[in-house]
Amino acid sequence: MDGFGIMKMELRKTFQFEAAHLLPLLPKSHKCRRLHGHSFKVEVVVAGECDPKLGWLMDYADITAAFKPIWEKLDHRYLNEVPGLKNPTSEEVAVWIWKRLKPKLPQLAEVVVAETCTARAVYRGE
Ligand SMILES: [Zn+2]
Repeated sequence: MDGFGIMKMELRKTFQFEAAHLLPLLPKSHKCRRLHGHSFKVEVVVAGECDPKLGWLMDYADITAAFKPIWEKLDHRYLNEVPGLKNPTSEEVAVWIWKRLKPKLPQLAEVVVAETCTARAVYRGE
């Protein structure tokens, strides 16, 4: 058989959602305590061994399909009102996504949540 033998691979698929939040546990003087919004970027990372026949780990469309119902709960929402996200820091949003996505996407290896172009939180399920 031609091919490359067993290939361990990681796929990264990026999504975006727009949402408002405030961080209620911070002092009133902190800017993140005020209501504001972000264009959040989420990176969903899956990892594992590629299918030797197809030469891929999985269909990117399957990642999109698994994430879509979660995305719908976040996009154009006030995150503080989403059940489970009373304190919607990037860190807590990443864990919240992980808990909902992992059962549908067992190869999930990492969830990255970026509030801005220069700041992001990475969660690997531990
Ligand atoms: Zn913020």
